[in-house]
Amino acid sequence: MKRIAILTSGGDAPGMNACIRAAVRAARAQDIDIFGIRRGYAGLIQGEMEPLDRKAVANIIHQGGTILGTARSSEFTTPGGRTQAVKNLEKEGIEGLILIGGDGTFRGGCDLSQECNAGIIGVPGTIDNDIYGTDYTIGFDSAVNCALHAIDRIRDTALSHERLFFVEVMGRHTGFIALESGMAGGAEELLIPELPFGVDELCSHLERSFQGQKRSAIVVVAESGKPGDSFRIAREVRERTGFDSRVCILGHLQRGGSPTARDRVLAGKLGVAAVGALVEGKSGCMVGEVNWRAACTPLRDTWNRKKDLNAELVEMRELLCE
Ligand code: ATP
Repeated sequence: MKRIAILTSGGDAPGMNACIRAAVRAARAQDIDIFGIRRGYAGLIQGEMEPLDRKAVANIIHQGGTILGTARSSEFTTPGGRTQAVKNLEKEGIEGLILIGGDGTFRGGCDLSQECNAGIIGVPGTIDNDIYGTDYTIGFDSAVNCALHAIDRIRDTALSHERLFFVEVMGRHTGFIALESGMAGGAEELLIPELPFGVDELCSHLERSFQGQKRSAIVVVAESGKPGDSFRIAREVRERTGFDSRVCILGHLQRGGSPTARDRVLAGKLGVAAVGALVEGKSGCMVGEVNWRAACTPLRDTWNRKKDLNAELVEMRELLCE
């Protein structure tokens, strides 16, 4: 293997830069040329690539976002768009391609791996952690810590004003961010799509809390594919209980900022593992981390198989969140 390329695609996530840096260092250490493709699949179709050397990735380990840029490309979902992408890879003599992104990126990568000769390796980079085949995705820990800092701050004002707060966190259709940030932040209740709840149940829980010692409460709400739905929940709670509340939607704050140590280490490990997988001749798979070890999973499984919430955490939730 003499020449490979790397791109970031879909939503950006803290730690993507650390992963690019690791892949460049691992490739150069083996005398492999590595190209950076700008703006994900959109840039691949346009042929936007440039060589990356160690200097190009100096001083980026602590930066959020992605130096390569990212984009969503509807053209890449068409055979015509992918044909153009394959032509560009062949023109530059690219023998292996590393894709850092989420399940959409991997779906595209799976199609691409059947249509070109280059090896295709995915690396899970998304704050949502909703990818099968890895315990954690790059960016998840940073997003959880961002949400946790916000919850801590909100607790100060909730306590001072004796108020109920709904804090809505990202996670698309999953509750990974809500579960970990909510437990770490001592939330009084977590609303997570994997654990169906009724507003009646929530109201009873809050009433019990306020009849006891509590004068304030924080409910962490997973966006569950419906960003902003916390306003409806808060309204329904007020109608049934009379509790006034405030809603805080953390939104894209959770996507930016410097990656945590955990995300940087994970990104480093997976960047090196991705280059290693290409050198070994692997293709059509994702390198993730399972039980602290790098592990390959077929790209198709990353979205077809369901990743469950940590069962131990879910069990502890009743005890720790009340
Ligand atoms: P995130 O989880 O952060 O949103 P993602 O990788 O899932 O990241 P998407 O926007 O879903 O982000 O996908 C990134 C790109 O992958 C899309 O813009 C599109 O070009 C390509 N893609 C997505 N789904 C498919 C698909 N079913 N077939 C082919 N390509 C796809």
